[in-house]
Amino acid sequence: MKSSPPLRGRCLCGAVRFEIHGAVAELSTCHCSECRKAYGAASGTVAIVARDDFTYTDGEARIRRYRQSDRVNRYFCSDCGSPLPMVEEWDPLVGVPAGLLEDDPGIRMTNHIFVASKPAWSEIGDSAPQHAEWRPGEDMNERASELKER
Ligand SMILES: [Zn+2]
Ligand SMILES: [Zn+2]
Repeated sequence: MKSSPPLRGRCLCGAVRFEIHGAVAELSTCHCSECRKAYGAASGTVAIVARDDFTYTDGEARIRRYRQSDRVNRYFCSDCGSPLPMVEEWDPLVGVPAGLLEDDPGIRMTNHIFVASKPAWSEIGDSAPQHAEWRPGEDMNERASELKER
């Protein structure tokens, strides 16, 4: 994996830049009301990658954090406001807002979560599996508390 060219990403203004040196495990779209606000959009699509494959290459000093809850931090560029990857020291996975990617992640939508919270004005335009809330066994609240206790 290290030999293939990295996937590049950046915020709207280009101050914050990163690279992913590895495969994207999932392309997941969350339709919950929190992602709706955080992304200012009908939903938020993230590319899930291994934290070990993720590196910031520029602009880390511009990253700001909003503590949404005990388990969720939202990060954004202080210059342009783009939502930024959710990198946490306790989590081996990183959720990268897919709109930041400059290159094709190589996979197509793998799932939709919190479809029960989807606003009436929004339509899902692909055939990836849909889940009312979390995917079975993938509850982030449980996962976060388990990982933090280690
Ligand atoms: Zn920016
Ligand atoms: Zn969400």
